[in-house]
Amino acid sequence: MTSLQEFSSSLKGQVTTEGDAGYDIKRWAKNAVRKAKYVVYPMDAEDVSKAILFAKANKLDLAICGGGHGSSGASSTEGGVVIDLGKKMNGVRIDEEKKLAYVQGGALWGSVDEASMKYGLVALGGVVSHTGVGGLTTGGGYGWLTGQHGLVVDNLVSATVVTANGDVLTASDTENTDLFWAIRGGGSNFGPVTEFVYRLHEQRAEIYFAEMIFLPDKVPQIANEIEEWSKTQSAETALHLVFAAGPGGRPCVVLMGMHNGSLEEGEARFENFAALGPLLNKSRQMPYPEINNAQESPFVNHAAEHGQNRLFKGAFVPEFDKELLSRIKLAREKMVTDYPATAQSAIIIEFYNSEKVRSVPLEATAYAGRHGNRNLCLALSWTDESLTPHVRQISKDVVASIIPRETGEYGNLSDGETLEGGAEKSVALFGVNYPRLASIKKRYDPENVFRKWYNIIPA
Ligand SMILES: Cc1cc2nc3c(=O)[nH]c(=O)nc-3n(C[C@H](O)[C@H](O)[C@H](O)COP(=O)(O)OP(=O)(O)OC[C@H]3O[C@@H](n4cnc5c(N)ncnc54)[C@H](O)[C@@H]3O)c2cc1C
Repeated sequence: MTSLQEFSSSLKGQVTTEGDAGYDIKRWAKNAVRKAKYVVYPMDAEDVSKAILFAKANKLDLAICGGGHGSSGASSTEGGVVIDLGKKMNGVRIDEEKKLAYVQGGALWGSVDEASMKYGLVALGGVVSHTGVGGLTTGGGYGWLTGQHGLVVDNLVSATVVTANGDVLTASDTENTDLFWAIRGGGSNFGPVTEFVYRLHEQRAEIYFAEMIFLPDKVPQIANEIEEWSKTQSAETALHLVFAAGPGGRPCVVLMGMHNGSLEEGEARFENFAALGPLLNKSRQMPYPEINNAQESPFVNHAAEHGQNRLFKGAFVPEFDKELLSRIKLAREKMVTDYPATAQSAIIIEFYNSEKVRSVPLEATAYAGRHGNRNLCLALSWTDESLTPHVRQISKDVVASIIPRETGEYGNLSDGETLEGGAEKSVALFGVNYPRLASIKKRYDPENVFRKWYNIIPA
């Protein structure tokens, strides 16, 4: 299928080009936008298959877009074809009896929460409701309930994948098992996933949410308390510390914590933080899904807002040392002094109980970050476009000043370096799982059509 007309008229969905109504290349991060030649909005897996064959026949670069939240540009293409699942393939269906969610590849986590919580059920999803299921799942997937239920990939029961030759395949523990292994961490390397089937868990309606804002001079006390708190952190309890600009632009540390239990239990688990004297304490009980809108709080200056310049850079923190928080504070202060246009940036450290994640053997799925105990994320934000060519180096320097040795990173916080080079970074990311990924890649995508994100070179 080479002609645009033939392709377009064969679709149930739509193909658009610049100037057409509906042509949309916006992404969550402004810097991730590229001018695609065609943006395709498929209705189903068959449309997706046709789009892949059209791009291949015309030798056009191909990108898959789910929720559009990747800051690296991996879901965009300059001059190629975007298969954008977000517009028309974003449905969610719940099977209450089997406790399964059937979720289309372009859905957002908020839609999954909304549909499943009607039945008192929940999927393990990300912490921001408007993030896409597509990238977050295929790259691994952490969320507030990781302590209890593990990674998103650990809760994936099956998936429908459209491969490079246009085949629509089911991948599960019993069908195309190698493909199923590969998509649980291997990202967009194996083709668009048009449907994910997730295992659901019973979930209480209300949870405890801790939200406290501290001035930076409390960092040493917070560090002492984190050390103590970590010793008895239960699977039901999680915490994020966000070093950011608070209201009025003053640096602050926001503690966001959750306990998947009653108000009283939650208060008991976080009382020592409350005793440190936060500037503001808005801890409360709230309906579970609301916690996934908390990053939109004015406390953190709407940290997850769409349409800003953003670049993520991650690093695993194998062990918590008490100086870590001071290093984060200093690194952010130095960055903002050196580059005032980065003042809205945040540095986040996530404290999930990692036992469940570690209980799955490293080679059981392609995801290779199971050694990471705590996860650091620099969410770099900048207002001065002249800084854009330098942000990758800035983000590397900032993270290196916090965690000086190489500890690996979570692939979904990719800074996009891999979009321009060979497999070196992918080999480092996937470690022992890389050779198997490369041989599965050869089987399903021998021409390396899906080469965005951390590219895996066919063996
Ligand atoms: C505000 C915010 C909050 C976040 N919170 C979390 C969190 O709580 N936990 C966590 O683990 N990560 C989190 N992340 C990181 C997140 O996992 C990545 O940004 C992820 O790439 C987002 O997926 P997406 O579908 O929205 O992105 P996109 O930009 O659409 O895609 C990113 C990558 O995934 C691929 N992709 C997307 N959909 C599909 C699909 N259906 N099939 C195959 N490949 C696909 C794309 O091709 C691209 O390579 C967050 C990111 C942001 C911006």
